Amino acid sequence: MFRVGIGHDTHRLGEGRPLILGGLRIEHPRGLIGHSDADVVLHALTDALLGAAGLGDIGDAFPDTDQKYKDCDSRFFVDETLKRLRENGWRVGNIDLTIFAQEPKLGPIKARMREHLAAMLGLSVDAVNVKAKTGEKVGAIGRAEAIGCQVIALLESK
Ligand code: MG
Repeated sequence: MFRVGIGHDTHRLGEGRPLILGGLRIEHPRGLIGHSDADVVLHALTDALLGAAGLGDIGDAFPDTDQKYKDCDSRFFVDETLKRLRENGWRVGNIDLTIFAQEPKLGPIKARMREHLAAMLGLSVDAVNVKAKTGEKVGAIGRAEAIGCQVIALLESK
């Protein structure tokens, strides 16, 4: 049996924060603002996985009103979600994601992120695809005020 899920997230870019994307620290003068480490990639991934398993969304599972998650490494949300999937008899088949960022240029780090996410999910690298788009200088993402991410995930029953 198979299930698919979709996840989306956007965070504002601002001064005085590290930029964390897909669990990687990326050299950039500005970072994403949020309650946790604001990793849009891992947040969208968490939502795609929860969605595919019919387990609600990241806001239900890990409320941003909970001080426990303040500046939290978003890897925790992914690991906790993978545990819930296993408990419900699911394993991840593959994921495909698109990051929307005018800056920084993500071309040079796509391969490293892909390997990092594959290891995090226990998948082979070919089961994880990372794509990057600019915002074509239009809208909040195009003005480099924010970074967004969309993820689709396929689950297989164990
Ligand atoms: Mg988020």
